[in-house]
Amino acid sequence: MTPTDFPIKCEQSFLYLSFIFTSLYVLHCSVLQRFLLGHEQVHIKKSADLPLRFRSDGTFKILQVSDMHFGNGAATRCRDVLPSEFGSCSDLNTTRFVRRLIEAERPDFIAFTGDNIFGQTSVDAAESMFRAFTPAMESKLPWAAILGNHDQESTMTREELMSFISLMDYSISEINPPAEKGIHGFGNYHLQVHGVLGSSLANSSVLNLFFLDSGDREVVNGRRTYGWIRESQLCWLQGLSQKLQYGGRWEGISTDSLTPALAFFHIPIPEIWDLWYKKFIGQFQEAVACSSVNSGVLRAFVSTGDIKAAFMGHDHKNDFCGNLNGIWFCYGGGSGYHGYGMAGWPRRARVIQAELEQKYREWTGVKRISTWKRLDNERLSVIDDQVLWELQ
Ligand SMILES: [Zn+2]
Repeated sequence: MTPTDFPIKCEQSFLYLSFIFTSLYVLHCSVLQRFLLGHEQVHIKKSADLPLRFRSDGTFKILQVSDMHFGNGAATRCRDVLPSEFGSCSDLNTTRFVRRLIEAERPDFIAFTGDNIFGQTSVDAAESMFRAFTPAMESKLPWAAILGNHDQESTMTREELMSFISLMDYSISEINPPAEKGIHGFGNYHLQVHGVLGSSLANSSVLNLFFLDSGDREVVNGRRTYGWIRESQLCWLQGLSQKLQYGGRWEGISTDSLTPALAFFHIPIPEIWDLWYKKFIGQFQEAVACSSVNSGVLRAFVSTGDIKAAFMGHDHKNDFCGNLNGIWFCYGGGSGYHGYGMAGWPRRARVIQAELEQKYREWTGVKRISTWKRLDNERLSVIDDQVLWELQ
């Protein structure tokens, strides 16, 4: 080697080594990491702050978001929006709406009542679910979801979807009660809301939330229809309700009223049709797309005595509340831009607020349950504020 060769050879060696290192790095990142055990990024679920609990001002607020119909994000086109809105409208409008709702209402809990994704157009169910629930996860608020009739139309079954949802950050959704066998469907569970911290009901449930899987589609006597809540689900609900009313009382506290409960499911029950002839608050603008099977949900709810109101989704253009046999049934109204709706009729969501009674400066049980809706317009207008139930 002559002295003049040295810089050239050195430069070549350096380039050669750089090439080898770069190639190895690319190989490591793109191929080997997929196969080497123990090198995957492990994600540990971030847990919600539990139990759910009334605030120190005696209130507990639930944001009900229904029918987001999330697709594939920015590439997904909106349905039924004004021509002036269409060009820039996508699933991101749904995300923005849910974010604004959370910011404006600052709820204690978010309940998603089905058709969270629109399976027919979703390329990857897990990806769509993850994106749909991103605003809830970002908020770090506890949230729960049930399935509609469109969630399972992509790459995951209903069981896989509920399992996936239950593992997401801050989700308190459950697939089914662990100790119960034979309950139809996936997404039947109960959540407790405890009294104010420091009060005598701090360790008791003062409001119960029941989630039910109303299924997707079925064929009955050769005819296609929607799913319905089955006998096994109603048996579980009635048994649980009895147990909660008589077995879960805080020692020393006597109250004449039962601990109130709220129910959440997707597909409306057939009796919702009857509300057309009664007084309702909100809009009744489309046919009730219920099952042809009446499994006795209303009768079962009435028999429990504790269910004061039920919250549904499914019919995006209906957003009313009506009373059947003493129980309020309320639609959430469609919130998603990829789901059908009505151009010029803003997407919407429902808020439910429970308030506790104060006796001798001590917070006790629930005295009032009220609801209102928020519209996705500039001011996030509040409409149809109403009291659903009051302690007599
Ligand atoms: Zn829907």
